Amino acid sequence: MTPEDFRVAAHELIDWLVDRRVAIEERPVRPPVEPGDIKLALPSDAPTGGDDPRALIADLDAVVAPGITEVQHPMHFGWFPSNASLSSILGDFASSGLASLGISWESSPSLTEVEEVVTEWVRQLTGLSPQWSGVIQDTASTGCLVAALAARERATNHAQADDGVLGFGKRLHVYTTAEAHSSVRKAALLAGYAAADIRSVAIDPVSRDMNVASLRSAIEADVAAGGVPALVVASLGSTGVTAFDPLPEIVELVRPYGAWIHADAAMAGSALLLPEYRYLFAGIEDADSISWNPHKWMGTILDTSLLYLRDPEHLIRVMSTNPSYLQSTAGGEATQYRDWGIPLGRRFRALKLWYQLRIDGPDAIAERLRRDLANARWFADQIENRPDWQVVAPVRLQTVCVRHIPPTLAGDAEAISAHNLAWVRRLNLSGEAFLSPSQLEDGWMARVSIGVESTEREHLERLLQLMDQHANAS
Ligand code: PLP
Repeated sequence: MTPEDFRVAAHELIDWLVDRRVAIEERPVRPPVEPGDIKLALPSDAPTGGDDPRALIADLDAVVAPGITEVQHPMHFGWFPSNASLSSILGDFASSGLASLGISWESSPSLTEVEEVVTEWVRQLTGLSPQWSGVIQDTASTGCLVAALAARERATNHAQADDGVLGFGKRLHVYTTAEAHSSVRKAALLAGYAAADIRSVAIDPVSRDMNVASLRSAIEADVAAGGVPALVVASLGSTGVTAFDPLPEIVELVRPYGAWIHADAAMAGSALLLPEYRYLFAGIEDADSISWNPHKWMGTILDTSLLYLRDPEHLIRVMSTNPSYLQSTAGGEATQYRDWGIPLGRRFRALKLWYQLRIDGPDAIAERLRRDLANARWFADQIENRPDWQVVAPVRLQTVCVRHIPPTLAGDAEAISAHNLAWVRRLNLSGEAFLSPSQLEDGWMARVSIGVESTEREHLERLLQLMDQHANAS
């Protein structure tokens, strides 16, 4: 493809993308496809080349796009807001178009230094103190893995340089809760902690926040048995019910043991942009690492996950291999982000934040988040005042967890659970809205995660009607 061919094809692609976005409400949220449908509609043999870019747009239109769950749709209330602000998409285009290679400072000085500047802007905007240094990871899962590796090496005094974890000879313990995201357990296992050494600390039955007395008992028992507390992962806004583990008490308890504290604020971290919500993150300054995803509620397109570290030098010691072919004339003065995470080659992700912050601006982003929070409070009030509906977890931010309890099923937890799973599935299959069913100890409920950029009050009014309709149909 020549640069001039690219110019024409890129304009046409952007026109098509804009038309799709403008007409998003005309499409179902969940596509009416079954597993295998998309593959069947595509040729099984590899192409031979020579296709006109317009033919690709035609296939995007006819086959690929109709198989997308429309998470930018205003009636999408599933999982979490996965916003993709158009300003950040421009940054993503710029990143692809510049096509730079992030393997060292020298391979793209701007890639490194814009990332330093942008993570510093976000630090200021979120009220974190200057002790924090930021890096952009692909996801919070990777951020947690990186933290788990740093924790392992701190607990073993850098055993990797020597006999490794096995040679260290003591059990290394990780503490988190059943409410923590599945990526936490995955990170711990991948970082070499034994499944038997990962403690699932008890939670409060209603808020699902970590119970610090149980954390204390678990740590004391492990230490008495000769183990080493290596890592505590505190959920600051869990995916399920927005639980906030009590970080100030966790810090006070854990500090004497020297365990690494990772604050997982992947979903809720956007609320740090709102000074009036920072009380939820009390204690965060005493963590060792914080990760949160602008690629969720804040709306920077995937993959833009921030990891802040109090002591990046420790991480660099864990991650650095410094092969000769990467040594550069810049020497030690330049940041080498390859030593702040796992991949060598990195994309110019910082441009996505750079574009969004410069075009939309922090104030407009904050106002949108406040709109969503007001919408969530309004929605919870509507549910509380509706016969047969219940809000089943505290509404800390923008997620409202609900259950429908028809009088005919009252007292029968199993039947109520099955009923709730059934109406959510019916609603999702209708394509008119999308919610995530989720399980608590006493059965299924529905999570209404509010915060898609285009969701306004009228969409929530419509959702209430749809919920009544599908919950009362059988
Ligand atoms: N932690 C929490 C609290 C989350 O809500 C999520 C995603 O839903 C993750 C971690 C994982 O995020 P990512 O998809 O960026 O790995």
